[in-house]
Amino acid sequence: MKRTATKRMTSSPGQAPTEPRAIPAEVRREVEARSRGACEARVSYECRQRHQPARHMHHRKRKSQGGPDTAANLVHLCWVCHAYVHRMIGESLMNGLLLRSHTNDEEIEPWSTDVS
Ligand SMILES: [Zn+2]
Repeated sequence: MKRTATKRMTSSPGQAPTEPRAIPAEVRREVEARSRGACEARVSYECRQRHQPARHMHHRKRKSQGGPDTAANLVHLCWVCHAYVHRMIGESLMNGLLLRSHTNDEEIEPWSTDVS
């Protein structure tokens, strides 16, 4: 009995890709409840002048650096502050809106909303 070499040589990646941007609905709801839809950072001039609605879920420890989808790692930001946070990296590392890549997930303290 001959064995036929029918081993498949598919180039399938093996695992289904996990959507990198999908934040679990319950985490999203938790952050939204905390922010009540208002920007939680208020670091940009425009936002301080006039409250901006929060539309962006910002990862303090970047997703690309393994930052988790947890309420502590997420801040609800308006688009102006979100752009500001990523432009002013030094300042954002100081105030905790950005966390260093080596920060352990367990060390991430929840973002404090009382920045007025
Ligand atoms: Zn803002």
